[in-house]
Amino acid sequence: MTDRKAQLAANLARVEERISSSCAAAGRARDEVTLIVVTKTYPASDVRALCDLGVRHVAENRDQDAAPKAAACADLPLTWHFVGQLQTNKVRSVTSYADVVQSVDRARLVTALSSAAVRAERELGCLIQVALDAESGERGERGGIAPDGVAELAAAVDAADGLRLDGLMTVAPLAGPFAGRQRAAFDRLVEISSRLRVGHPAATMVSAGMSGDLEDAVAAGATHVRVGTAVLGDRPRLG
Ligand SMILES: *Cc1c(COP(=O)(O)O)cnc(C)c1O
Repeated sequence: MTDRKAQLAANLARVEERISSSCAAAGRARDEVTLIVVTKTYPASDVRALCDLGVRHVAENRDQDAAPKAAACADLPLTWHFVGQLQTNKVRSVTSYADVVQSVDRARLVTALSSAAVRAERELGCLIQVALDAESGERGERGGIAPDGVAELAAAVDAADGLRLDGLMTVAPLAGPFAGRQRAAFDRLVEISSRLRVGHPAATMVSAGMSGDLEDAVAAGATHVRVGTAVLGDRPRLG
């Protein structure tokens, strides 16, 4: 094993331990929570090593970095999640490798994703990104739609050819009433998810929690945690 792979293995083991203890503490089965490793800014060789170590879900947030990486790893049994703010001019590229887009936050993006998915003859999983710091009708600092816009956008995804409504995603807000209150933020997301599932029972994914707050997300009921630095190390500034 290379030094890098050994380091990734040790980091993964620590993250795995954190997820399983949080599951145990919350009375949840370990298999209710899926680890997505956020590989942004790290090379394809790390993705390959992670796959060797058993990782099956990876996430990226910038198409420029993700597209060549996904191409270099096309032979691997990985599910690719796109978690960054997405411009419509990148949609065709993202649709060529992403299995799930977690950052769906506006009707125009739904239309663009749908055309691209139909053209590529792919079914694309979609999560509505909820901005818990956004006022009604506005978008969040880091993308996302205000909670009161979720139902309408979810209906648009559900009605769109080529798209599958999988659930909800959030990033814990840095500002507003939930700033510094991750557990409360994730509880709120789970509440919005429960309401969504009344009309869309298959939309079960709740993607929340990162390196610093995955315990809060598991406790609140997240089904997917997105972990970058705790597995790969501190990123250089850009990511
Ligand atoms: C980078 C990123 C993560 C991972 O964050 P870490 O703090 O490195 O674990 C999770 N979600 C999104 C949307 C990200 O951009």
